[in-house]
Amino acid sequence: MDAGLVVVLLGPPGVGKGAQGAALAEWLSAERVVTGDLLRAARREGTELGKKAQAFMDAGDLVPDSLIVEMVRERLTELPVDRGLLFDGFPRTAVQAEAFGKVLAGMGRALDAVLLLEASDETLVRRIGGRRSCPQCGRVYNVHLDPPINEGICDECGAVLDHRKDDRPETVRHRLGVYREQTEPLIDYYEKGPVPVLRVDGEGAIEDVRRDMQRALAERLEVEG
Ligand code: AMP
Repeated sequence: MDAGLVVVLLGPPGVGKGAQGAALAEWLSAERVVTGDLLRAARREGTELGKKAQAFMDAGDLVPDSLIVEMVRERLTELPVDRGLLFDGFPRTAVQAEAFGKVLAGMGRALDAVLLLEASDETLVRRIGGRRSCPQCGRVYNVHLDPPINEGICDECGAVLDHRKDDRPETVRHRLGVYREQTEPLIDYYEKGPVPVLRVDGEGAIEDVRRDMQRALAERLEVEG
């Protein structure tokens, strides 16, 4: 059997990577590798990595590349070798992108596509402002787009939802600046390489964006729709 596709979901914070990721991964029969979620889980569990990452995350800064690359490398060893992979929130710097290419090559795999979700800063700030997450199970909601059944309470586990420290307005602006400075150059990096960069407008409703993402991938990569 052929190995599954390897896809990177790229885009600014709040553009909908998290909201789209689960359904997209299911459609691709892929495993999601979400570095923000892995880091938040490490923090909840109080691991050494979690402790090291904490201050960077709360300030809206990037966690050092070496920690991230090691974390991703370790996560990949836990997954079946031929499974499709959907990366969300990684890579985020040129150093990570280089290291990522090498990690994949070491596994005898290669990137198939970069899916770039885009939206205006205004949309991003509004969406992140509405984001609430469960401190217990990690599920993310949006009070405007995807609210829980009972206000402020997690549908899955009943915990009281939290407004992430790094989702507060002053930190959100900073995170967008970090994205523009450190992550946006990856668009150019990948556009110069052999892998298709598929741009999708992330402004619309969740279902419309999902359809556009699937269409973009299906057109370029013979994924069954
Ligand atoms: P996210 O949920 O993807 O917005 O990530 C939340 C925070 O985790 C970011 O603001 C960073 O502090 C950290 N983080 C997640 N992924 C990465 C990455 N690939 N490189 C560096 N820091 C990351």
